[in-house]
Amino acid sequence: MTEQSYLDGNMLDGPLREVFAMDVSAATGRCASCGATGPMAGLRVYSHAPGLVARCPACAEVMLRLVRGPDRAWLDLRGTTFLQVPLPPDPLPR
Ligand SMILES: [Zn+2]
Repeated sequence: MTEQSYLDGNMLDGPLREVFAMDVSAATGRCASCGATGPMAGLRVYSHAPGLVARCPACAEVMLRLVRGPDRAWLDLRGTTFLQVPLPPDPLPR
């Protein structure tokens, strides 16, 4: 049996809360590589890279990278086709 070397995607909540004003781990994302769609909390997060690397649980391709510098952050979502974000109902329907 191999030791699990990644963390649950729920750990992205704190680091991404600095960048977004919402809980991204509650969002649904689609993998650009295999098309799997699922909760961002289900990603496999590797924290022993420079920054955080979150991989698709279906195909293991990178969906998200986040690097935190002293005064800025770099977010790479090129492996994610979309993020579907839950929102409260729009009070002013368009
Ligand atoms: Zn995938």
